[in-house]
Amino acid sequence: MHVEFGGTDISDKFELVKVKDPSQVEDGKVNIIGPDIKDLPESSSSPLGILIEVSGKQVEEDLEGVIERRIHHYCNYIEGFMHLNQRYDIWLRLSKKSFQKGFNSFNLLAKVLMRLYKSELPIIEKIQITFITDPEKVKGYKQEAMKTYENRDAKARGLKDEEVDSFYGCTLCQSFAPSHVCIITPQRYANCGAISWFDGRAASKVDPKGPIFNINIGEILDSLKGEFSGVNQVVKEKSLGEIERVYLYSAFEYPHTSCGCFEAIAFYIPEVDGMGIVHRDFKGPTINGLPFSTMADSTAGGRQVDGFHGISIEYMRSNKFLQADGGWKRIVWMPSAVKERVLNFVPPELVEKIPTEKDVHSIDELKDFLKSKNHPIINRWVKPVVEKVPELVAPKIVAETTPAPTPIPYAVGGGVKIVLKGAKISAKRVILKVTREGAH
Ligand code: SF4
Repeated sequence: MHVEFGGTDISDKFELVKVKDPSQVEDGKVNIIGPDIKDLPESSSSPLGILIEVSGKQVEEDLEGVIERRIHHYCNYIEGFMHLNQRYDIWLRLSKKSFQKGFNSFNLLAKVLMRLYKSELPIIEKIQITFITDPEKVKGYKQEAMKTYENRDAKARGLKDEEVDSFYGCTLCQSFAPSHVCIITPQRYANCGAISWFDGRAASKVDPKGPIFNINIGEILDSLKGEFSGVNQVVKEKSLGEIERVYLYSAFEYPHTSCGCFEAIAFYIPEVDGMGIVHRDFKGPTINGLPFSTMADSTAGGRQVDGFHGISIEYMRSNKFLQADGGWKRIVWMPSAVKERVLNFVPPELVEKIPTEKDVHSIDELKDFLKSKNHPIINRWVKPVVEKVPELVAPKIVAETTPAPTPIPYAVGGGVKIVLKGAKISAKRVILKVTREGAH
Protein backbone atom coordinates (compact mmCIF):
# COMPACT_ATOMS: atom_id res chain seq x y z
CA MET A 1 0.00 0.00 0.00
CA HIS A 2 1.01 3.63 -0.43
CA VAL A 3 -0.96 4.93 2.59
CA GLU A 4 -3.71 3.68 4.87
CA PHE A 5 -6.39 5.47 6.87
CA GLY A 6 -7.96 4.14 10.06
CA GLY A 7 -7.67 0.43 10.79
CA THR A 8 -7.03 -1.27 14.11
CA ASP A 9 -3.98 0.83 15.09
CA ILE A 10 -5.67 4.20 14.56
CA SER A 11 -8.41 5.05 17.02
CA ASP A 12 -9.55 8.33 15.46
CA LYS A 13 -11.53 7.51 12.35
CA PHE A 14 -15.15 7.77 11.24
CA GLU A 15 -17.48 8.33 8.34
CA LEU A 16 -20.74 10.18 8.65
CA VAL A 17 -23.55 11.37 6.41
CA LYS A 18 -25.72 14.29 7.51
CA VAL A 19 -28.86 15.49 5.80
CA LYS A 20 -28.91 19.29 5.66
CA ASP A 21 -31.07 22.15 4.57
CA PRO A 22 -30.26 22.96 0.89
CA SER A 23 -29.00 26.39 1.93
CA GLN A 24 -26.25 24.70 3.99
CA VAL A 25 -24.87 22.55 1.16
CA GLU A 26 -22.71 23.89 -1.65
CA ASP A 27 -23.05 21.31 -4.39
CA GLY A 28 -19.71 19.84 -5.47
CA LYS A 29 -17.66 21.47 -2.71
CA VAL A 30 -14.72 19.49 -1.31
CA ASN A 31 -12.99 20.43 1.94
CA ILE A 32 -9.73 18.91 3.10
CA ILE A 33 -8.76 19.61 6.70
CA GLY A 34 -5.19 18.42 7.30
CA PRO A 35 -2.70 16.81 4.93
CA ASP A 36 -4.00 15.58 1.55
CA ILE A 37 -2.98 12.11 0.25
CA LYS A 38 0.07 13.47 -1.61
CA ASP A 39 1.32 15.16 1.56
CA LEU A 40 1.34 12.00 3.67
CA PRO A 41 4.56 9.97 4.01
CA GLU A 42 4.68 6.73 2.05
CA SER A 43 3.59 3.64 4.03
CA SER A 44 2.05 5.79 6.76
CA SER A 45 -1.18 5.25 8.67
CA SER A 46 -3.33 8.30 9.23
CA PRO A 47 -6.51 9.21 11.09
CA LEU A 48 -9.41 10.05 8.79
CA GLY A 49 -12.88 11.50 9.04
CA ILE A 50 -15.24 11.56 6.06
CA LEU A 51 -18.20 13.88 6.45
CA ILE A 52 -20.72 13.88 3.62
CA GLU A 53 -23.51 16.47 3.70
CA VAL A 54 -26.46 16.03 1.37
CA SER A 55 -29.79 17.67 0.61
CA GLY A 56 -32.78 17.04 -1.61
CA LYS A 57 -36.57 17.33 -1.41
CA GLN A 58 -36.98 13.60 -0.77
CA VAL A 59 -33.90 13.14 1.38
CA GLU A 60 -34.99 12.57 4.99
CA GLU A 61 -32.88 12.17 8.09
CA ASP A 62 -33.93 8.49 8.23
CA LEU A 63 -31.82 7.94 5.12
CA GLU A 64 -28.56 9.10 6.66
CA GLY A 65 -27.46 5.61 7.75
CA VAL A 66 -28.28 4.11 4.38
CA ILE A 67 -26.52 6.81 2.36
CA GLU A 68 -23.56 6.48 4.70
CA ARG A 69 -23.32 2.72 4.12
CA ARG A 70 -22.93 3.33 0.39
CA ILE A 71 -19.49 4.87 1.07
CA HIS A 72 -18.23 1.31 1.58
CA HIS A 73 -19.79 0.14 -1.64
CA TYR A 74 -18.69 3.05 -3.82
CA CYS A 75 -15.12 3.28 -2.50
CA ASN A 76 -14.60 -0.34 -3.46
CA TYR A 77 -15.46 0.48 -7.09
CA ILE A 78 -12.14 2.33 -7.28
CA GLU A 79 -9.20 0.32 -8.57
CA GLY A 80 -6.43 -0.01 -6.02
CA PHE A 81 -8.53 1.35 -3.17
CA MET A 82 -9.88 -0.64 -0.24
CA HIS A 83 -12.63 0.30 2.20
CA LEU A 84 -13.60 -1.90 5.14
CA ASN A 85 -16.19 -1.61 7.89
CA GLN A 86 -18.31 1.37 8.83
CA ARG A 87 -19.00 4.30 11.14
CA TYR A 88 -16.20 4.61 13.78
CA ASP A 89 -14.42 1.51 12.54
CA ILE A 90 -13.29 2.32 8.98
CA TRP A 91 -10.10 1.08 7.36
CA LEU A 92 -9.01 2.36 3.94
CA ARG A 93 -5.91 1.60 1.89
CA LEU A 94 -4.53 3.05 -1.33
CA SER A 95 -2.21 0.93 -3.46
CA LYS A 96 1.17 2.15 -4.68
CA LYS A 97 0.12 1.49 -8.27
CA SER A 98 -2.97 3.68 -8.09
CA PHE A 99 -1.00 6.43 -6.33
CA GLN A 100 1.67 6.34 -9.04
CA LYS A 101 -1.03 6.56 -11.70
CA GLY A 102 -2.25 9.82 -10.20
CA PHE A 103 -4.66 9.01 -7.37
CA ASN A 104 -2.93 11.44 -5.02
CA SER A 105 -5.73 13.64 -3.69
CA PHE A 106 -9.01 13.35 -1.81
CA ASN A 107 -10.44 15.55 -4.57
CA LEU A 108 -10.45 12.51 -6.87
CA LEU A 109 -12.12 10.34 -4.24
CA ALA A 110 -14.76 13.05 -3.76
CA LYS A 111 -15.38 13.20 -7.50
CA VAL A 112 -16.05 9.45 -7.67
CA LEU A 113 -18.31 9.50 -4.62
CA MET A 114 -20.31 12.51 -5.82
CA ARG A 115 -20.89 11.03 -9.27
CA LEU A 116 -21.94 7.66 -7.90
CA TYR A 117 -24.23 9.17 -5.27
CA LYS A 118 -25.98 11.36 -7.80
CA SER A 119 -26.36 8.68 -10.44
CA GLU A 120 -27.42 5.86 -8.13
CA LEU A 121 -29.49 7.92 -5.68
CA PRO A 122 -30.95 10.72 -7.81
CA ILE A 123 -32.93 12.00 -4.81
CA ILE A 124 -29.64 13.58 -3.71
CA GLU A 125 -29.70 17.04 -5.29
CA LYS A 126 -26.72 18.61 -3.53
CA ILE A 127 -23.66 17.04 -1.96
CA GLN A 128 -20.49 18.35 -0.32
CA ILE A 129 -17.70 16.30 1.21
CA THR A 130 -15.15 17.08 3.93
CA PHE A 131 -12.09 14.91 4.53
CA ILE A 132 -10.31 15.41 7.85
CA THR A 133 -6.82 14.04 8.48
CA ASP A 134 -5.64 16.53 11.11
CA PRO A 135 -5.43 14.26 14.19
CA GLU A 136 -6.90 16.77 16.67
CA LYS A 137 -9.72 17.79 14.34
CA VAL A 138 -10.67 14.14 13.61
CA LYS A 139 -11.02 13.58 17.37
CA GLY A 140 -13.45 16.49 17.73
CA TYR A 141 -15.56 15.58 14.71
CA LYS A 142 -15.63 11.93 15.81
CA GLN A 143 -17.19 12.82 19.15
CA GLU A 144 -20.03 14.51 17.28
CA ALA A 145 -20.36 11.52 14.95
CA MET A 146 -20.64 9.12 17.91
CA LYS A 147 -23.59 11.15 19.24
CA THR A 148 -25.33 10.86 15.88
CA TYR A 149 -24.79 7.06 15.76
CA GLU A 150 -26.16 6.70 19.29
CA ASN A 151 -29.26 8.78 18.45
CA ARG A 152 -29.94 6.66 15.36
CA ASP A 153 -29.57 3.40 17.34
CA ALA A 154 -31.68 4.60 20.26
CA LYS A 155 -34.53 5.47 17.91
CA ALA A 156 -34.97 1.82 16.91
CA ARG A 157 -34.79 0.47 20.46
CA GLY A 158 -38.43 0.90 21.48
CA LEU A 159 -39.91 -1.21 18.70
CA LYS A 160 -40.41 -4.99 18.90
CA ASP A 161 -40.23 -7.56 16.10
CA GLU A 162 -43.77 -8.70 16.99
CA GLU A 163 -45.11 -5.20 16.35
CA VAL A 164 -44.24 -5.01 12.65
CA ASP A 165 -45.36 -6.99 9.62
CA SER A 166 -42.29 -6.28 7.49
CA PHE A 167 -38.61 -6.83 7.98
CA TYR A 168 -35.96 -5.51 5.58
CA GLY A 169 -33.22 -7.30 3.70
CA CYS A 170 -29.87 -5.97 2.48
CA THR A 171 -27.59 -7.52 -0.12
CA LEU A 172 -25.04 -4.70 -0.36
CA CYS A 173 -22.28 -7.01 0.84
CA GLN A 174 -22.92 -9.66 -1.81
CA SER A 175 -20.03 -8.20 -3.80
CA PHE A 176 -17.80 -9.71 -1.09
CA ALA A 177 -20.00 -12.55 0.17
CA PRO A 178 -22.28 -13.72 -2.65
CA SER A 179 -24.65 -15.81 -0.51
CA HIS A 180 -25.02 -13.25 2.27
CA VAL A 181 -28.37 -11.60 2.99
CA CYS A 182 -28.80 -9.38 6.04
CA ILE A 183 -32.21 -9.55 7.66
CA ILE A 184 -32.89 -6.33 9.51
CA THR A 185 -35.63 -6.37 12.14
CA PRO A 186 -36.41 -3.84 14.88
CA GLN A 187 -34.64 -6.12 17.37
CA ARG A 188 -31.91 -7.50 15.15
CA TYR A 189 -29.78 -4.69 13.80
CA ALA A 190 -27.78 -5.35 10.61
CA ASN A 191 -24.47 -7.16 11.14
CA CYS A 192 -22.46 -4.05 10.23
CA GLY A 193 -24.25 -2.08 12.94
CA ALA A 194 -24.96 0.67 10.44
CA ILE A 195 -28.52 -0.04 9.27
CA SER A 196 -31.56 -0.14 11.53
CA TRP A 197 -35.09 -1.28 10.73
CA PHE A 198 -36.06 2.41 10.27
CA ASP A 199 -33.15 2.91 7.88
CA GLY A 200 -34.28 -0.16 5.95
CA ARG A 201 -37.81 1.14 5.71
CA ALA A 202 -36.68 4.54 4.44
CA ALA A 203 -34.25 3.03 1.91
CA SER A 204 -36.73 0.53 0.47
CA LYS A 205 -39.26 3.32 -0.02
CA VAL A 206 -37.01 5.61 -2.05
CA ASP A 207 -35.23 2.84 -3.97
CA PRO A 208 -37.48 -0.26 -3.95
CA LYS A 209 -35.33 -2.07 -6.53
CA GLY A 210 -32.11 -1.27 -4.69
CA PRO A 211 -30.03 -3.49 -2.43
CA ILE A 212 -32.28 -2.82 0.60
CA PHE A 213 -35.77 -4.26 0.23
CA ASN A 214 -38.97 -5.07 2.05
CA ILE A 215 -39.58 -8.60 3.38
CA ASN A 216 -43.06 -9.83 4.17
CA ILE A 217 -42.56 -11.81 7.39
CA GLY A 218 -45.05 -14.53 6.44
CA GLU A 219 -45.76 -17.32 8.90
CA ILE A 220 -43.93 -17.51 12.23
CA LEU A 221 -42.36 -20.98 12.15
CA ASP A 222 -40.49 -20.69 15.44
CA SER A 223 -40.84 -17.61 17.61
CA LEU A 224 -38.01 -18.58 19.99
CA LYS A 225 -35.40 -19.23 17.32
CA GLY A 226 -36.78 -16.52 15.05
CA GLU A 227 -37.69 -18.51 11.97
CA PHE A 228 -40.15 -16.94 9.53
CA SER A 229 -41.45 -18.37 6.25
CA GLY A 230 -41.13 -15.02 4.44
CA VAL A 231 -37.53 -14.63 5.54
CA ASN A 232 -36.62 -18.17 4.45
CA GLN A 233 -38.18 -17.58 1.05
CA VAL A 234 -36.33 -14.31 0.44
CA VAL A 235 -33.01 -15.64 1.69
CA LYS A 236 -33.32 -18.65 -0.60
CA GLU A 237 -34.03 -16.43 -3.61
CA LYS A 238 -31.35 -13.84 -2.88
CA SER A 239 -28.67 -16.40 -2.03
CA LEU A 240 -29.50 -18.28 -5.25
CA GLY A 241 -30.53 -21.35 -3.31
CA GLU A 242 -27.40 -21.51 -1.17
CA ILE A 243 -29.16 -20.72 2.13
CA GLU A 244 -32.60 -22.19 2.77
CA ARG A 245 -33.37 -21.50 6.41
CA VAL A 246 -32.38 -18.82 8.89
CA TYR A 247 -32.82 -18.56 12.65
CA LEU A 248 -32.63 -14.87 13.49
CA TYR A 249 -32.11 -15.32 17.25
CA SER A 250 -29.65 -18.21 17.41
CA ALA A 251 -26.01 -18.91 16.63
CA PHE A 252 -26.69 -22.59 16.01
CA GLU A 253 -28.09 -24.84 13.28
CA TYR A 254 -29.25 -22.16 10.82
CA PRO A 255 -27.66 -18.93 12.09
CA HIS A 256 -27.94 -15.66 10.18
CA THR A 257 -25.19 -15.56 7.56
CA SER A 258 -22.10 -13.44 8.16
CA CYS A 259 -20.58 -11.34 5.38
CA GLY A 260 -17.37 -9.76 6.67
CA CYS A 261 -18.55 -6.40 7.99
CA PHE A 262 -19.84 -7.66 11.35
CA GLU A 263 -18.82 -5.55 14.32
CA ALA A 264 -18.31 -8.57 16.54
CA ILE A 265 -18.41 -12.37 16.61
CA ALA A 266 -20.34 -14.53 19.05
CA PHE A 267 -18.35 -17.79 19.30
CA TYR A 268 -19.06 -21.08 21.01
CA ILE A 269 -16.68 -22.24 23.76
CA PRO A 270 -17.32 -25.99 24.01
CA GLU A 271 -15.29 -26.49 27.21
CA VAL A 272 -17.86 -24.50 29.18
CA ASP A 273 -20.83 -24.78 26.81
CA GLY A 274 -21.02 -20.98 26.69
CA MET A 275 -20.58 -18.18 24.17
CA GLY A 276 -17.81 -15.62 23.98
CA ILE A 277 -17.95 -12.27 22.22
CA VAL A 278 -15.08 -10.52 20.48
CA HIS A 279 -15.16 -7.23 18.61
CA ARG A 280 -13.08 -6.15 15.64
CA ASP A 281 -10.71 -3.87 17.55
CA PHE A 282 -9.77 -6.44 20.18
CA LYS A 283 -6.05 -7.05 20.01
CA GLY A 284 -4.48 -10.34 20.95
CA PRO A 285 -5.98 -13.78 21.46
CA THR A 286 -9.41 -14.28 22.96
CA ILE A 287 -10.13 -16.79 25.69
CA ASN A 288 -10.08 -19.68 23.19
CA GLY A 289 -6.58 -18.69 22.05
CA LEU A 290 -7.72 -17.33 18.68
CA PRO A 291 -7.63 -13.65 17.70
CA PHE A 292 -10.58 -11.86 16.05
CA SER A 293 -8.95 -12.11 12.61
CA THR A 294 -8.71 -15.92 12.69
CA MET A 295 -12.28 -16.32 13.85
CA ALA A 296 -13.46 -13.75 11.29
CA ASP A 297 -11.94 -15.91 8.52
CA SER A 298 -13.95 -18.88 9.74
CA THR A 299 -17.15 -16.87 10.13
CA ALA A 300 -17.27 -14.59 7.08
CA GLY A 301 -18.07 -15.18 3.42
CA GLY A 302 -21.86 -15.42 3.58
CA ARG A 303 -21.82 -18.83 5.24
CA GLN A 304 -23.83 -20.28 8.10
CA VAL A 305 -21.25 -21.55 10.55
CA ASP A 306 -22.67 -23.42 13.53
CA GLY A 307 -21.50 -21.62 16.67
CA PHE A 308 -19.68 -18.74 14.93
CA HIS A 309 -21.96 -15.81 14.42
CA GLY A 310 -21.28 -12.31 13.08
CA ILE A 311 -23.27 -9.69 14.99
CA SER A 312 -23.56 -5.96 15.56
CA ILE A 313 -22.93 -4.38 18.95
CA GLU A 314 -26.46 -2.95 18.87
CA TYR A 315 -27.94 -6.48 18.63
CA MET A 316 -26.41 -7.12 22.07
CA ARG A 317 -28.71 -4.41 23.42
CA SER A 318 -31.77 -6.25 22.14
CA ASN A 319 -34.07 -8.54 24.13
CA LYS A 320 -33.82 -10.98 21.24
CA PHE A 321 -30.03 -11.26 21.57
CA LEU A 322 -29.26 -14.98 21.07
CA GLN A 323 -32.65 -15.61 22.66
CA ALA A 324 -32.84 -19.26 21.58
CA ASP A 325 -29.38 -20.03 22.98
CA GLY A 326 -30.00 -18.60 26.44
CA GLY A 327 -29.33 -14.91 25.74
CA TRP A 328 -27.06 -13.20 28.24
CA LYS A 329 -27.10 -16.26 30.51
CA ARG A 330 -25.04 -18.04 27.85
CA ILE A 331 -22.35 -15.33 27.59
CA VAL A 332 -19.23 -16.33 29.50
CA TRP A 333 -16.49 -14.03 28.19
CA MET A 334 -16.19 -10.69 26.42
CA PRO A 335 -13.60 -7.90 26.04
CA SER A 336 -13.86 -5.15 28.66
CA ALA A 337 -14.31 -2.52 25.91
CA VAL A 338 -17.48 -4.24 24.66
CA LYS A 339 -18.75 -4.85 28.18
CA GLU A 340 -18.43 -1.16 28.91
CA ARG A 341 -20.37 -0.23 25.77
CA VAL A 342 -23.31 -2.50 26.49
CA LEU A 343 -23.15 -2.42 30.28
CA ASN A 344 -26.63 -0.93 30.73
CA PHE A 345 -28.13 -3.76 28.72
CA VAL A 346 -26.48 -6.67 30.55
CA PRO A 347 -28.92 -8.05 33.17
CA PRO A 348 -27.62 -6.52 36.44
CA GLU A 349 -27.31 -9.91 38.18
CA LEU A 350 -24.88 -11.07 35.43
CA VAL A 351 -22.59 -8.06 35.19
CA GLU A 352 -20.05 -9.36 37.73
CA LYS A 353 -20.38 -12.94 36.51
CA ILE A 354 -19.15 -12.35 32.96
CA PRO A 355 -15.34 -12.11 32.91
CA THR A 356 -13.20 -10.12 30.50
CA GLU A 357 -9.57 -10.29 29.38
CA LYS A 358 -8.72 -8.54 32.65
CA ASP A 359 -10.16 -11.38 34.77
CA VAL A 360 -9.20 -14.63 33.07
CA HIS A 361 -6.54 -15.76 30.61
CA SER A 362 -7.19 -19.43 29.95
CA ILE A 363 -10.06 -21.87 29.76
CA ASP A 364 -9.12 -23.29 33.17
CA GLU A 365 -9.22 -19.82 34.72
CA LEU A 366 -12.52 -19.20 32.95
CA LYS A 367 -14.04 -22.37 34.44
CA ASP A 368 -12.84 -21.42 37.94
CA PHE A 369 -14.18 -17.89 37.54
CA LEU A 370 -17.61 -19.06 36.37
CA LYS A 371 -17.81 -21.52 39.26
CA SER A 372 -16.73 -18.98 41.84
CA LYS A 373 -19.30 -16.44 40.62
CA ASN A 374 -22.04 -19.04 40.28
CA HIS A 375 -22.62 -18.05 36.65
CA PRO A 376 -25.89 -19.61 35.38
CA ILE A 377 -23.90 -21.51 32.73
CA ILE A 378 -22.82 -24.01 35.39
CA ASN A 379 -26.40 -25.32 35.44
CA ARG A 380 -25.68 -26.65 31.96
CA TRP A 381 -22.70 -28.63 33.23
CA VAL A 382 -24.84 -31.37 34.75
CA LYS A 383 -23.80 -33.58 31.87
CA PRO A 384 -20.02 -33.99 31.41
CA VAL A 385 -18.61 -30.95 29.64
CA VAL A 386 -16.67 -31.56 26.42
CA GLU A 387 -13.02 -30.92 27.26
CA LYS A 388 -11.75 -30.43 23.74
CA VAL A 389 -13.19 -29.21 20.46
CA PRO A 390 -13.87 -32.44 18.54
CA GLU A 391 -11.54 -32.93 15.62
CA LEU A 392 -13.17 -32.57 12.22
CA VAL A 393 -13.04 -36.00 10.64
CA ALA A 394 -14.13 -36.59 7.09
CA PRO A 395 -16.35 -39.64 6.80
CA LYS A 396 -14.97 -42.49 4.80
CA ILE A 397 -17.03 -42.87 1.65
CA VAL A 398 -16.25 -46.06 -0.18
CA ALA A 399 -17.86 -46.14 -3.60
CA GLU A 400 -17.51 -48.60 -6.43
CA THR A 401 -18.39 -46.88 -9.67
CA THR A 402 -17.61 -46.97 -13.36
CA PRO A 403 -15.71 -44.78 -13.96
CA ALA A 404 -14.45 -44.15 -10.42
CA PRO A 405 -15.72 -40.75 -9.21
CA THR A 406 -13.73 -38.25 -7.19
CA PRO A 407 -14.72 -38.76 -3.54
CA ILE A 408 -16.52 -35.73 -2.09
CA PRO A 409 -16.11 -35.81 1.66
CA TYR A 410 -17.56 -32.92 3.62
CA ALA A 411 -17.81 -33.09 7.35
CA VAL A 412 -18.59 -30.75 10.22
CA GLY A 413 -18.35 -31.13 13.99
CA GLY A 414 -21.33 -32.18 16.09
CA GLY A 415 -22.45 -35.00 13.81
CA VAL A 416 -21.88 -35.27 10.10
CA LYS A 417 -23.60 -33.38 7.34
CA ILE A 418 -22.97 -34.44 3.77
CA VAL A 419 -23.83 -31.84 1.15
CA LEU A 420 -23.58 -32.84 -2.50
CA LYS A 421 -24.93 -30.03 -4.68
CA GLY A 422 -25.21 -30.32 -8.42
CA ALA A 423 -23.33 -33.61 -8.28
CA LYS A 424 -24.14 -36.57 -10.50
CA ILE A 425 -23.05 -39.74 -8.80
CA SER A 426 -23.71 -43.29 -9.72
CA ALA A 427 -22.57 -46.04 -7.42
CA LYS A 428 -23.27 -49.73 -7.19
CA ARG A 429 -22.63 -49.66 -3.49
CA VAL A 430 -21.87 -47.01 -0.83
CA ILE A 431 -20.46 -48.15 2.49
CA LEU A 432 -20.46 -45.69 5.38
CA LYS A 433 -18.38 -46.95 8.31
CA VAL A 434 -18.47 -45.78 11.91
CA THR A 435 -15.10 -44.06 12.47
CA ARG A 436 -15.68 -42.92 16.04
CA GLU A 437 -18.52 -42.46 18.46
CA GLY A 438 -21.11 -40.04 17.12
CA ALA A 439 -19.78 -39.90 13.55
CA HIS A 440 -21.32 -42.24 10.98
S1 SF4 B 1 -23.60 -5.89 6.68
FE1 SF4 B 1 -25.66 -6.32 5.98
S2 SF4 B 1 -26.83 -4.45 6.26
FE2 SF4 B 1 -24.67 -3.91 6.41
S3 SF4 B 1 -24.18 -3.27 4.33
FE3 SF4 B 1 -23.65 -5.44 4.49
S4 SF4 B 1 -25.44 -6.57 3.76
FE4 SF4 B 1 -26.09 -4.45 4.18
